[in-house]
Amino acid sequence: MAQGFPESERIRNQTGGSTGSPLQFLVDRERLDARLAATERHNEWAGLRPGDWCAYLWGARLDQISTATLRDRLRNELLYRRVELNTSQITAEGLSRFTDAVRRKRPRFLIAYAYSAHLFAEHVIKEGIGDITFDAMITTAEVLMPETRRLLEKTFGGRVFNRYGCREVSIIASECDQHNGMHVHSESLLVEIEPDPSLPDGLGRILVTDLRNLSMPLIRYEIGDVAAWSKTAACPCGRGLPLLDDVRGRTTDFLIMPDGSRISGPSLTLVVADMSEVSQVQFVQNSEQSITLRVVPGVGYGEATRAELRKRLDLYLRGRAALDIQEAPPIASEASGKYRFVVNASEIK
Ligand SMILES: [Zn+2]
Repeated sequence: MAQGFPESERIRNQTGGSTGSPLQFLVDRERLDARLAATERHNEWAGLRPGDWCAYLWGARLDQISTATLRDRLRNELLYRRVELNTSQITAEGLSRFTDAVRRKRPRFLIAYAYSAHLFAEHVIKEGIGDITFDAMITTAEVLMPETRRLLEKTFGGRVFNRYGCREVSIIASECDQHNGMHVHSESLLVEIEPDPSLPDGLGRILVTDLRNLSMPLIRYEIGDVAAWSKTAACPCGRGLPLLDDVRGRTTDFLIMPDGSRISGPSLTLVVADMSEVSQVQFVQNSEQSITLRVVPGVGYGEATRAELRKRLDLYLRGRAALDIQEAPPIASEASGKYRFVVNASEIK
């Protein structure tokens, strides 16, 4: 950490929500502005301008905007213009409410956790809703599976603009209107891909150096995601920013279903993040047909909690795998401070 940096010029932040051991870090106020600018720039690549209404399917509790007070509501009406569903408690009723809100405001854009957007599209199809379309959809926070991209574009009409980032450095790379891979926001970030022979398809581990956060520099910081550089030499859009191939995410963070599809562990974890009776969860893949949820009980944990967990998670598992719920002692993070959302049964001692 830099010495002599005024405390008032940096802001404390942390990774993770109610699960895992959060990593604490500091962001310069000036860097926060640059991060916001990078996000706005990518919004504009997708056609979204400040002042446009936008639908949000957003799970991170730390990102929530409170709409409790009149002032907050006015601020949302006039400034942020968000129609929002907190996807940490996604249910069919929640999606129906969200559908009604989208119908009232008719936003032309959707910004969403990739898997939440997938669930919303499935809900729209199941309910036979035909009047919700978007000009563009920005997906983030989770790996965008090709089938999710296809489903979203077919269901809502617009194109998907994928975005990759993390809480520590915010937006890292994002897709332009050529949909050729993701341009690295290299004005602020140096991204390296460290070769790793244990990974398939020439993938490597992503290392990020934040060139603008001076009070607490992150140098060759390993995020824990894997990717490869794009083979496209120059993007036809004319932007000179280097191109990443789609980020494959943490391969270990996925539950694999018998039909070969993968469910993101982080997204499942967010599904239960608002339950105060649950202090921590981790998924264990025993086999493709069998999943164990390890739960560290919180205050008030009991049979009703187990039933609620089962109800919420069944929305994702859809009967494809059996779910066993087991109470567990506190679960440690990896040495990097990153939490393992999914582990294989063979890794449990
Ligand atoms: Zn481009």
